[in-house]
Formats: sequence, structure tokens, C-alpha cells
Amino acid sequence: MGHSLTIERTLKKKSKPPENQLGFGIHYTDHMFIMDYTVENGWHQPRIIPYQPISLDPAAKVFHYGQTIFEGLKAYRTADERVLLFRPDQNFKRMNRSNARLSIPQIDEEFAIEALRQLIQVDQDWIPTSAGTSLYIRPFVISTEAYLGVAPSKSYQFIIIMSPVGPYYAEGVNPVKIFVESEYVRAVNGGIGEAKTGGNYAASLKAQEGANEKGYSQVLWLDGVHRKYIEEVGSMNVFFKINGEVHTPALNGSILDGITRKSIIQMLKHWNIPVVERTISIEELYDYHAKGQLEEAFGTGTAAVISPIGELNWRENKILLNQGQTGELSAKLYDTLTGIQNGLMADPFGWMVEG
Ligand code: PMP
Repeated sequence: MGHSLTIERTLKKKSKPPENQLGFGIHYTDHMFIMDYTVENGWHQPRIIPYQPISLDPAAKVFHYGQTIFEGLKAYRTADERVLLFRPDQNFKRMNRSNARLSIPQIDEEFAIEALRQLIQVDQDWIPTSAGTSLYIRPFVISTEAYLGVAPSKSYQFIIIMSPVGPYYAEGVNPVKIFVESEYVRAVNGGIGEAKTGGNYAASLKAQEGANEKGYSQVLWLDGVHRKYIEEVGSMNVFFKINGEVHTPALNGSILDGITRKSIIQMLKHWNIPVVERTISIEELYDYHAKGQLEEAFGTGTAAVISPIGELNWRENKILLNQGQTGELSAKLYDTLTGIQNGLMADPFGWMVEG
């Protein structure tokens, strides 16, 4: 890999949006990172350049066969002006697992983190500081070869863009209503569900749209073979507190290995709360609810961190969880994890690294 990173600074800095109107993924910083891959040269010419459109041949494979992957992580600015990243090593490890699944060449993870640090340094004024805000980072790889044969591309681009984002919950953490999807599936074992690739999200849109039309904010995905076992909720992993124990679907090949998920599992174990990773059926979950033993449910992911579930609708069987209120454990997990991420609370796990 040619590793001499060059930096071309913009001559026209954009004006920054007000911090109370950031939203999610709407505004982008002044610069981006980009690096090319060819069979002859491997990954080469890493550069930070002004944020700009990219130009591709209309036959580029990414447009036709979806050979592409992405990641999502956040940087925070602390009260004492430090920049903190949450477990970036985990994101770049997962990026390479996605790359492997999509026949995309591996990227040097340490170099990618170093390039990201430099990009953040160049655009550090873009990290918002108000409560609940952060800088969302989107690394991604696209296949660029102009050839319509179905085969791995011979050329790629690895790009990192960054977006200042507002708090996921404008009015504090609020439970969401979830529609249990019985028709469409997101992924199947042996497919690409474990990879962070566009196709999985394209496959999810129809169900998401249907749930929204019925007044639900997300779907709960069941497995693709039996339509019975719980997989994920929207683009989050899912947890249930049952009888004082926390249960989450075991990674089975079609579930995304979430970094928030693994951090929550570690945190619960640290608090001596039992955590069980296993196969959980939707019938079983409804049975626990009928017996009054389903205490809380929540989703986990980079965007929302913890998203409490207030209601489930499975085949018009509606159940309220924790009276539709945010549960005690969900709230404590949210406060602790966001506290660690913002640098307001001690980080006993060593998750935060300086940006
Ligand atoms: N599942 C899916 C399908 C996702 O897109 C995400 C978001 N990356 C997650 C789970 C949560 O993963 P993470 O905690 O790493 O954000």
C-alpha cells in the first residue's frame, strides 16, 4: 500500500449549520478521505481533499451489482476539548469482515484509523459540542470497474465522509412502537446479513415503509427460514429483560455483529447482570409477556445507542412493554454508555480512544 497521505485543504469553507438543527446525515464537513485500489497497485494514493462529488463510469459495478460495504461510527468532543472515538478498531475490523464477504480487498485497519484521525483533525471545527450531538463518520468502499460481467471488480475506492449529527431523541429517550414483520425478511443464514452492505438495507425498505404506514417506527425482523426466531429491530440489535436476566439473539450468520451490542453485553456482565445469547422465538417472547415476565426490551446501535421498545405488534397481537415507558435498565444503559462516549463518565473498559 502506498501510505503517504496528502492533504489538500479547501479554499471555500462551508458555513456550519446551527447545532440545534443538525438532524442525521444531512450536513457534511469540508473534507473527505479517499484512496484507490487497482490490481496493479493495491490500495494507493490516500488523500484528504475538499468534500466533493465523485465521478464514475455509468457501468461501474457498484451501480449494478451492489458490490459495496460501509461502516458507521461517531466522534465526540469532550467538555475539556478532547476528541474521542468510540471503539474505531472494532468498526474497521468489521469493515474488513464485510470486505471479505463481498470479495473486496482488505484494507490496512491501522492505516484507516490513522487516516480517519487526520481527517478529523482537519475538520475538527465540525465536531458539535451541545448535549447529545456528535460527528457521525461514514467509511465506505465502492466497486468502480466499468464492466458488466458479474465478477469481483478490479478497482475500488475507499472513502470516508463525516456529518455533524444532532441527538437521536430531540425530546429525550422515548420508547418506539415496533411492527413484527411476518412477510419480508432482511437476511438469511449463508447470505450477506452479517455484512454491512447496501443490499441488506435495500431489502429492508419495503417492510420499513409498510410499518411506517401502519404507525410503527421500525420492524422487528424474524428469521428467513421459519419466520419465527427474532433477529434484529430495524437497523439495531435487540435485547429483552426477562425475569431479571437479559436475553439477546445469538449471532447466527444473518445478524449484524453490532459494536453497541457487544459493548452492552460487556457492560451488563461488568454489573453482574446475567446475559444470555441464544435463539429466541417470537411465541416465547409473547408467552413471557403473558406471564408478566417480560420486563423491558430495547434496540442497540450507533445512531440511537439505546432505543427502548414500548409496543410490539405481531399479527395484530399488540403488547405494551413496561407500560410503554422507558425501563430502568434501558435508561441506565443509555446514560452510562453515552456518559462514557461523551467523556463525562469514567471508561473502565478502555473503549474511548483519542481522535
Ligand atoms: N444491525 C444493523 C442491521 C445495523 O445496520 C446496525 C448499525 N450498524 C446495527 C445492527 C448496530 O450496530 P452498531 O452497534 O455497530 O452500530
